[in-house]
Amino acid sequence: MSSNWFKRVKEGITTSTKEKKETPEGLWHKCDKCKTVYTLQEIQKLYWVCDRCSHHGRIGSEEYFQILFDDGKYKELDAKLTSGDPLDFEDTKKYTDRVKATIKSTGLYDAIRTAAGKLDGHDFVIACMDFDFIGGSLGSVMGEKIARAIDHAIKINAPFMIISKSGGARMMEAGFSLMQMAKVSGKLGQLSEAKLPYISLLTHPTTGGVTASFAMLGDLNIAEPEALIGFAGPRVVKETIGRDLPDGFQTSEFVLEHGFLDYIVHRGELRDKVALSLKLFRS
Ligand SMILES: [Zn+2]
Repeated sequence: MSSNWFKRVKEGITTSTKEKKETPEGLWHKCDKCKTVYTLQEIQKLYWVCDRCSHHGRIGSEEYFQILFDDGKYKELDAKLTSGDPLDFEDTKKYTDRVKATIKSTGLYDAIRTAAGKLDGHDFVIACMDFDFIGGSLGSVMGEKIARAIDHAIKINAPFMIISKSGGARMMEAGFSLMQMAKVSGKLGQLSEAKLPYISLLTHPTTGGVTASFAMLGDLNIAEPEALIGFAGPRVVKETIGRDLPDGFQTSEFVLEHGFLDYIVHRGELRDKVALSLKLFRS
């Protein structure tokens, strides 16, 4: 395919250089669902939610931290913890190469970032996954970072939140990945003993080992609208049970209706609703 399609071929259409600098090309966002086009500034103001069809665009940890922490200020915890090569297989060289390449391309060090800040004037600790980093996969670094973030929450007597967005366990770390489910669940038990609330926010998509463990263990389990939430994908479930699946199977709305969620929250109301929930826990 010719890349000329995307270039201005004809002279004279281009506006002056000065004006061009103010609106650089490529700074557009197109809604995945209804294809409405926004400028980056517009969609940022809307929290990356399309105001025409309400589709929640995918965002990363930085955007969630900006939404939730007072004035967008926070201190990142264990920022540079990265994945080693726990299995030491000869062919894991490919895996370590992939980790290195992903660090370079995303500017992230693993599929989760943890941070402490204030929400509504109160201490708050958040662990938020980044799908751009190997599908938000749960590996040993994610488990360790969540565990340390929970220790930090207990130390400063703060509530804790995990924002999930994950394809599940990181297969390249095999058993080490699966162990993290138990490790995090155990740590959450300590948080509970310290009488500190844990809020789990499930965003699109939350699947596999993450759903099967800590994402569903919140004192409050909440989700963004129309998120895919499930253990196995719909195709696998259909083949396993040999039956057609009901409409909307594995969406937030379906999961809410079946009693596994406390509420669904529009991203524009996320901050206020979480602040209110924490206020209720405090009283
Ligand atoms: Zn839309």
